[in-house]
Amino acid sequence: MELKERHCPVCGLNGASSVYSASNIDESRLNGYSYASRKAPELMHFRLMLCATCGLLYASPAPGAELLQGAYEEAAYDSMQEAQLAARTYMKYANGVLANLPDRQGALDIGAGDGAFLGRLMEAGFTRVEGVEPSAAPIRAAEERVRPLLKKGIFREEDFQLGAYSLVSCFMTMEHLADPGQMCRAVMKLLKPGGAFITVTHNYQSFLNRLMGDGSPIFDIEHLQLFSPQSMRHMLEASGFAGVKVFPLTNTYPLHYWMKIAPLGSGLKKWLISFSKSAGFGYLPAPIRGGNMFAVGYKPNT
Ligand SMILES: [Zn+2]
Repeated sequence: MELKERHCPVCGLNGASSVYSASNIDESRLNGYSYASRKAPELMHFRLMLCATCGLLYASPAPGAELLQGAYEEAAYDSMQEAQLAARTYMKYANGVLANLPDRQGALDIGAGDGAFLGRLMEAGFTRVEGVEPSAAPIRAAEERVRPLLKKGIFREEDFQLGAYSLVSCFMTMEHLADPGQMCRAVMKLLKPGGAFITVTHNYQSFLNRLMGDGSPIFDIEHLQLFSPQSMRHMLEASGFAGVKVFPLTNTYPLHYWMKIAPLGSGLKKWLISFSKSAGFGYLPAPIRGGNMFAVGYKPNT
């Protein structure tokens, strides 16, 4: 695997970074699920740097964009139910933003997965809804009504119309991008004046993630950066967004999903999951403040 040195993807050359945690990659343990979303965590990560300027944790050296594209294209997918539940949660938070938008024409979801959130937007009256997703498997799993709206590939500014979107969303994807700052600047160009960018990411400074320390599933080979509320705000404001708000998010997933990502031994975990499923309680929806945050920023009107 060829690795490249990176600067802080928010501050560039202006960031003052130091080593936060050495790499613990074991190549013999990498498999098809390493780049899938919502899989059981492997707790492997590249060397992590902490930027003292913006508070971002970022992987360096790390694989280049080309290698990542290949890995995501082939990544396996088995989390349809979780995707639907997540989309419902994101919509609940997005509702507070929709009222502020200039109109409901033009929405783009970056890292759209199986398009579950696009379905929610259509139900909320959005027209011209699109998604972009690098992995083939979730697109194949998409509902009939949204599959044609999903473009397969890595997000590229030139594939979309400038100034045409009221809402751009990006959920649990910013950690995976080679250059999240560049994506924010591109989103700014795609938005109409008054349009909003909404995103959900992990918050490495959340209580739960601090509690789990090195055992937190956020420490993952897929995550090229990890945000704190401060670094998220810094990135959005540096990209020109106004009215930036960042707040914690409560996810609702079935109990067996929380068990899957919990820092437990794999034997105990398997037993707990199958026991909870056969007893039935594993399917109960469990709302947990699991260490994620929601952020919104608006394109200024002038
Ligand atoms: Zn920085």
